[in-house]
Amino acid sequence: MDKSKRKVVIAGNWKMNMTPSEAKTAVAETAKLTDSMNGCDVVLCVPFVDIASAVEAAKGTNVKIGAQNVHFEAKGAFTGEISAAMLLETGVEYVIIGHSERRQYFGETDATVNARTKAALAAGLKVILCLGEVLSERESGITSEIVSMQTKLDLAGISAEDMKNVIVAYEPVWAIGTGLTATPDQADEVCGIIRSTIADLYSADIADATVIQYGGSMNDGNAAELLSKVNVDGGLIGGASLIPAKFAKIVEAAQA
Ligand code: PEP
Repeated sequence: MDKSKRKVVIAGNWKMNMTPSEAKTAVAETAKLTDSMNGCDVVLCVPFVDIASAVEAAKGTNVKIGAQNVHFEAKGAFTGEISAAMLLETGVEYVIIGHSERRQYFGETDATVNARTKAALAAGLKVILCLGEVLSERESGITSEIVSMQTKLDLAGISAEDMKNVIVAYEPVWAIGTGLTATPDQADEVCGIIRSTIADLYSADIADATVIQYGGSMNDGNAAELLSKVNVDGGLIGGASLIPAKFAKIVEAAQA
């Protein structure tokens, strides 16, 4: 397993936090603190209404901006939804799809995650595809089956070529926003299961080149150890991404 084939990606998920003016300040501060840290890609995924000010504040810096969802249809009568073309035109490069909060509270299924992923990739966006088991699944010993099934369903019909623009974020649902973190070995094991599922679906080369992040209460205290694992190529960070100084420490930990 050659980790050097993959660039580490540290992405923040602000969820429903920050007004546009707060976003401007936080992006500028994050950019300043991570200015010389070129050993990984740095992404902040912000609420839709913050995109304009975040993109403006990130101009000329190493921070890239992402959105937190995208609709699968190109246009039409879908009140409240945002298309991939709309995101692209605002300057967004990345989009999170299938976050557990969308699956849990907004009826997201593997079928809709797959449709959104296809629409985002077709428009030229990079996708951070989230998946992971809930606590009862881990306790029943079916984590491996769950994540490989989600990987297969969420990536169904996505071409090998498009996999260059897919990052998978392994996010055990029991670890998101709870302060509980998977141990580095647990994170490595499940990221490895996702990687071998991708190898079965595509090829060993594509699996080796796919960035697989860990997400779930990653913070400035535990990032270095999690990121040291061979199958963990970065992090998707919720709470700690809201505080630029904390987020910058995670980016720093990814430089090693
Ligand atoms: C997330 O929102 O994807 C996440 C991992 O959140 P937190 O870091 O707060 O657990």
